[in-house]
Amino acid sequence: MELELQPLNLPSDNERPSCIIAGPCSAETEEQVLTTAKELAAKGCHIFRAGIWKPRTKPGGFEGKGEEALPWMKEVKEQTGMLTATEVATPEHVEQALKYGIDVLWVGARTSANPFAMQALADSLKGADVTVLVKNPVNPDLELWIGALQRLNQSGIKRLGAIHRGFSSYDKKIYRNLPMWQIPIELHRRIPELPIICDPSHIGGRRDLIAPLCQQAMDLGFDGLIVESHCNPDEAWSDAKQQVTPDILDYILSLLVVRDEHT
Ligand code: PEP
Ligand code: MN
Repeated sequence: MELELQPLNLPSDNERPSCIIAGPCSAETEEQVLTTAKELAAKGCHIFRAGIWKPRTKPGGFEGKGEEALPWMKEVKEQTGMLTATEVATPEHVEQALKYGIDVLWVGARTSANPFAMQALADSLKGADVTVLVKNPVNPDLELWIGALQRLNQSGIKRLGAIHRGFSSYDKKIYRNLPMWQIPIELHRRIPELPIICDPSHIGGRRDLIAPLCQQAMDLGFDGLIVESHCNPDEAWSDAKQQVTPDILDYILSLLVVRDEHT
C-alpha cells in the first residue's frame, strides 16, 4: 500500500452516485454564490464547490475574489447546511481556507504538477483535520500524481482522494483535456482504497459533454463527481462554456445509470 488512508466520509444522496460536489468554477459575488448554492441544495447536493483563487492561463483575466469570498462560503454552510470546497495552491490559501472552516480542499492540476508547490502545501497542512482532493497534474504523469498524494499523506492527511480532470493536450478537437481513462484506472489498480472522483467539466470543456462523461465515469466505477454549476452559466466570469444550471445538473444526474458491481 502506497498511502495510509481513512474514508473520506463525505455525504452522499442515496439516489445518486456517492459524493456529488457541485458549484461554480469561481465565486464571483455573494449573490451568485448563495443563489447557486441554494438551488443546488434544493436539488439534494451536499457539497458546494467554488474557486476563490483562480489559476488563469494568461494574466489580465479574473483571478478570483480571494479572501473576500470566504465569508460567502461560510454563509453557504450556515444557510444550506452544505459542506464547502475550494482550491488551494499556496500555504496562505490553506491558512485562510481553514480559518473560514472550508471542509474540503482541492489541489489544482497546475499545482499537483509542481513538487515544490506540493511540498509547501503539504507542510502547511501538517496536523490539519481536513479532507484533501488532488487533481491529476496537467501532464499525463501518474507518478507525479501519486507523489503529490504521498507528500500530503506524509504530512498526516489521511482523508485523501483524487480528482481526474483530464490531461492537457494541443489536440482540442473534442475534449478540453484528454480523459486518458487508462491513467486513473491504473491509479485505482495501484491504490485501490483511494477514492477517485471524476471532473467532467474540465475534461469536456463543453456543456454537451457533461452527461456522457458522467456516465462514462460511473461505468468505470468512479467514486463520485465534481461538476461545475452556475445559476447563470452564460454570464460566468470563468469557464462559462462548461457550466450548467443546477436544474440541468439535476436532470443529468437523474438520467445516470449506476450499477453496483463496481470493483
Ligand atoms: C477548477 O476546478 O476550476 C480548476 C481551475 O481546475 P483545474 O485545476 O482542473 O484546471
Ligand atoms: Mn473551472
